[in-house]
Amino acid sequence: LWTIPFLIFGRGFIPEYIVIGLLSAVPITFAIAILKYHIFDIDFIINRSIVYFIALGGLIITYILLFTLITFLIKGIDETIPAVILAVTVALALNPIKNRVQHFVDRKFFRIQYNYREALNKFLNEIDNSHDVKILAEKIVEKTDEFIPVEKIGFFLMKMPESRISLIAHKNFDFLINRSIKFNFEDLKTNLPRPVALVDQLEPGVEIEAADAKVFKRWGMALVFPVKSVNDEILGFLVLGTKKSGMHFTIEDIDLLNAVRSKAAAAIERIKLQQDLILEHLEKERLTELNEIKSFFVSSVSHELKTPLTSIKMFTDILKDQRKFSEKSKDYLKIIEGESDRLKRLIDNILDITKIEKGIKQYNFENIYPDGLIKDVLEVIEYQLEINKFTVDASFDLKDSIVFADKDAIKEAVINLLSNAIKYSGENKTICIETFLSNGFACIKIKDQGVGISEEDLKYIFQPFYRAKNPEGTQTSGTGIGLTIVKHIMDAHKGKIEVVSEPGKGSVFTLLFPLKT
Ligand code: ADP
Repeated sequence: LWTIPFLIFGRGFIPEYIVIGLLSAVPITFAIAILKYHIFDIDFIINRSIVYFIALGGLIITYILLFTLITFLIKGIDETIPAVILAVTVALALNPIKNRVQHFVDRKFFRIQYNYREALNKFLNEIDNSHDVKILAEKIVEKTDEFIPVEKIGFFLMKMPESRISLIAHKNFDFLINRSIKFNFEDLKTNLPRPVALVDQLEPGVEIEAADAKVFKRWGMALVFPVKSVNDEILGFLVLGTKKSGMHFTIEDIDLLNAVRSKAAAAIERIKLQQDLILEHLEKERLTELNEIKSFFVSSVSHELKTPLTSIKMFTDILKDQRKFSEKSKDYLKIIEGESDRLKRLIDNILDITKIEKGIKQYNFENIYPDGLIKDVLEVIEYQLEINKFTVDASFDLKDSIVFADKDAIKEAVINLLSNAIKYSGENKTICIETFLSNGFACIKIKDQGVGISEEDLKYIFQPFYRAKNPEGTQTSGTGIGLTIVKHIMDAHKGKIEVVSEPGKGSVFTLLFPLKT
């Protein structure tokens, strides 16, 4: 109306001052466009500009004032020193001061956003601090609906290993209460890196995965947020219907929901971990309790068994000395005595292992001559050797060597090894027992020609209750505690136990006691 007619006719259709008046509306219409259609996040830009202006301005003024003051007060100072120190101080102070200014500006000039941000922070903190998945889900549903009012909202939790999802908190998802849905990971086309949504419910430019519109509409869903662990494992879903306002979901909505879902994932993982720890702790307590009951039971039964056994042994002793018995009867009495001794040793082993487990096994150390002791042991075990038709090759070469040890414990260790040699010897019924000195140790070697022990089993035979699998048909009865006790005895004596064995050839166990110097 002005420029073109002016060019052609030499004058405009409307006066120049009206044109200038109209042109002045341009910035105003731009401003309206920016504010109304959010072309830029103008509030955000203004907010940050004010914050940085105040924070930086304040710091620069302080810097100049301090610099001038210092150079004025300290005459002849090299100016770079205060300049550098002050610059570093200002750099360090920038962030904390900026945060304070932000707080101030938000409160003073941006009251609404401030309240919103405060409420959101509070909500996210509440998610962080929750200790129960159900309460957490209820909170998420309630608060998310306050921030983004929607027609429906539900929080679904994934149950593994069944991989079923069930609703644990909701608004208007009543038809899904008490139902759990099988979730097939194999059916997924992607690993759900983004939320899945109805495209027509979102502002353009929001990154999502397009949903199957039919399915979503049938269930009344508009947005589904997978809640995933750090290992990308799906823990649950946050499902939203359309917005009550009828508007699209905006980028801000999606950002908020993303923040909620990542906090929720961390909280669920933490709660699960805590629950696992509590369960583990309870299980441990239960096991300790059971173990104590077991130990108590085993030791009281063993003690009970010992009383009648002592009587049997005592009366067998009395009967043995009576002349009127025939040779046969005396043989029987010998068997009763031998078997009672064996039973007593078994019971003593059980009592010992209970004490070892509890850490209360005690030893009485004294000076002893091992050779004499081994001879006693052979007498004690004579019955067992005889009944099993074993011959023993014994050689004693410790002479006057003395070890500082518990007499009964050494006897027990040697008897356990000899009993094993008998048990695991099969048809080769010869056992060698030797005592000798070697490298400052008094050694007792027990050698059999039995089934031997495999290399794999050798690693475990000293562990409580471990029993090696012997070749088919040669399985012998036992408790798996004999060698554990021997090992404990040797450790208590600061000695060693060595074993060399080959399946089918036999085993050699050597006890090494440090010599008393
Ligand atoms: P137990 O003999 O009651 O099973 P031990 O603790 O005495 O328990 O022995 C543990 C395992 O070591 C035995 O089950 C057996 O397999 C193996 N073992 C011990 N001594 C011998 C041996 N002299 N010859 C072959 N295997 C042996």
